[in-house]
Amino acid sequence: MSNCAIVGINWGDEGKGRMVDLIAADYDVVVRYQGGNNAGHTVVNEYGKFALHLLPSGIFRKNIVNVLGNGTVIDPEKLLEEIEDVRSHGIAISPENLKISDRAPIVFPYHRDQDVLEEARLLDAKYGSTKRGIAPVYGDKYMKKTIMLGELFYPDYLKKRLEGILEWKNLTLKNVYGGKTYSLDELLSWLSAYGEQLKPFLCDTGKYLRGIDGKKNILFEAQLGVLRDVDFGIYPYTSSSAPLAAYAPIGAGMPGTKLDRVIGVVKAYSTCVGEGPFTAEWFGEEASRLREEGAEYGAATGRPRRVGPMDIVATRYGVMMQGATEVALTKIDILSYMEQIPVCTQYDLNGKKTDEFPYPAIIAEAKPVIEYMPGWNCDISGCRSFEELPKAAQDYILSIEKSIGCPITNISVGASRDAIIRR
Ligand code: GDP
Repeated sequence: MSNCAIVGINWGDEGKGRMVDLIAADYDVVVRYQGGNNAGHTVVNEYGKFALHLLPSGIFRKNIVNVLGNGTVIDPEKLLEEIEDVRSHGIAISPENLKISDRAPIVFPYHRDQDVLEEARLLDAKYGSTKRGIAPVYGDKYMKKTIMLGELFYPDYLKKRLEGILEWKNLTLKNVYGGKTYSLDELLSWLSAYGEQLKPFLCDTGKYLRGIDGKKNILFEAQLGVLRDVDFGIYPYTSSSAPLAAYAPIGAGMPGTKLDRVIGVVKAYSTCVGEGPFTAEWFGEEASRLREEGAEYGAATGRPRRVGPMDIVATRYGVMMQGATEVALTKIDILSYMEQIPVCTQYDLNGKKTDEFPYPAIIAEAKPVIEYMPGWNCDISGCRSFEELPKAAQDYILSIEKSIGCPITNISVGASRDAIIRR
């Protein structure tokens, strides 16, 4: 039996969803352990193309139990929309295959409002939030001022707490932002419209997982990547949660467990959504071409993603912070149009070359050091073994493997489930 985490090594959008969808076949349970509906995992399978925001990517496989852990934050209204959308493609979702932690904080409509109001207040200094209320709800979690889903089973307790929280929250909404305030009745009816429908799915998911630990194979699915980690990412241009593998057992409710395997997902080039330093960034024609080839538009927001070449400095840092035991390299087929493959091998920090990922306060000063490798310039999407790949593509993979110091065990050459090379 084994516990495995599939995590992002860079800025997110590395193609984790497709890796979970593929690797989940060997697992009994898939757990989302952090984040909310702010990210989007794109999964393409026999049912169609899906952008999952909260549901674990194991939802499409029969016999897999999917868990939303205590480390996630849940907007009941948005989760129900997502459940309905997936169901409309003929996929059964019931308390048998979806379990939601009774300790997960609720994202309220005022959290969404606050996200929008704060980004508007910041103007040009904005963080590039997806405006789903994620930062406000995590902030409230640590201030002990939000409601956990399980409190729905204790209406009197919930009502009393929500009343106190609302008194505090309305002060902020009104006095800081001049925004809309909420009444207790309004929020209670929102909860009875949406929260109530989630009740059948709620349970002590930590207890459930601890009960099967060592007896079943558990896969932990992260959202985003190391550079968006609130502790170790490019703070403050981070998410408000921990996309690290090390957080998986905590966010799942089984803090005493160990991971046997950590698969770090790396894209063959870099992309980033939102604001903040992005050292290897391309602009202009070069960027548009890569963005179009890779269809790099946000799964959650549709925003065009910032793009650039593979960044070894960031990737090596990501591999280390994730404690990755192996790497899955995705979207290498997208590079096929290039005559030469650019790689950012080092950063130039005020005239000094460095291999170290810089401290957030100075990273904006770093310039990429770019080296070029020979391209392969032909279609590789049909290759299913390492040997079938052109020599230049093999060399590219081996060179990346060497510089990041981690074995590349999976290489994807297309979006579909079978477009994968296993090494
Ligand atoms: P995630 O959040 O890490 O799952 O990343 P995204 O939602 O951005 O997913 C990556 C996108 O690339 C999705 O549209 C996938 O279907 C697609 N994709 C994943 N792997 C490959 C690949 O190897 N080749 C190509 N061409 N597309 C891929």
